[in-house]
Amino acid sequence: MRTATETPLLAVDDLHVEFRTRAGVVKAVNGVSYSLNAGETLAVLGESGSGKSVTAQAVMGILDTPPAAVTGGQIRFKGTDLLQLSEEARTRIRGEGIAMIFQDALSALNPVFTVGWQISEMFRVHRGMSKRDAMKKAVELMDRVRIPAARERVNDYPHQFSGGMRQRIMIAMAIALDPELLIADEPTTALDVTVQAQIMELLAELRRESGMALILITHDLGVVADVADRIAVMYGGRIVEHAPVHDLYRSPAHPYTRGLLESIPRVDLKGRELHAIAGMPPSPLDLPGGCAFHPRCPYRRAACASDVPPLYQVGWTRGSACHYWREVLDAGRR
Ligand code: SF4
Repeated sequence: MRTATETPLLAVDDLHVEFRTRAGVVKAVNGVSYSLNAGETLAVLGESGSGKSVTAQAVMGILDTPPAAVTGGQIRFKGTDLLQLSEEARTRIRGEGIAMIFQDALSALNPVFTVGWQISEMFRVHRGMSKRDAMKKAVELMDRVRIPAARERVNDYPHQFSGGMRQRIMIAMAIALDPELLIADEPTTALDVTVQAQIMELLAELRRESGMALILITHDLGVVADVADRIAVMYGGRIVEHAPVHDLYRSPAHPYTRGLLESIPRVDLKGRELHAIAGMPPSPLDLPGGCAFHPRCPYRRAACASDVPPLYQVGWTRGSACHYWREVLDAGRR
């Protein structure tokens, strides 16, 4: 259980990130705050351009070169603000403290080295192990991420594996140094539905076994229901709703979340009509004034176009950036 005095493993506080492009300043992240305790799983949900991946890249410290600029806020990992650390100190935290896996495993793996070589490199470089011992650890890790016949396949090249198996290899590399936090950025998007479920199950299992915390970044509300403890929903570079996963599914407190839920098929609500959210997500180059969701929002009133909603506290454990969250919550309970 969390106590009031416990220091979160990760606390992102009022983070702002911009990209200075020739077309203008892209305000990708506009005051994002969230925190995560050891062993928790947070799903960060949003459409493309919502700022979800950029926030994670800022946490990982792989965004600190132009045109990207972290223009404000703090990212505290075990109480230390990562934005104040030297590059050397951040490199140490990457891999051992925080690790990340990406959507496209094929381009993240080097095609000219065997997978065993690539996994074992983590142990040679970070732990100073001999080639032989590091290779033994690579086989152990391939077993751990359930790659069949790991001993025989350790000398195969990435192209000899299926998409799902390549993603398992990426996961093996990410967990090699026992990170306390794993960030998985759309880890199943390029995979078919059955393999998606297997990868999510593997991540959940590894989290349970190791006690690491997990941030799952996704655009698909359907894939995180069974895995996440909490969900943060992003829109226009901000968090518009956060809640324990079951509360959010049962009764969303933001019209955008409600729209997302109404657009996914559910076996328990057979025969229900599906609704797509009207319109398109805004360009981060030209965010609407007031509430960024107002051009698409069925609940909007005049004030929505001018007054930016703060993240209102909804009960003890939830937040919604909607002026009319009570109405949305009540509509969901009907
Ligand atoms: Fe919709 Fe207004 Fe709420 Fe924004 S603040 S989500 S426009 S009702």
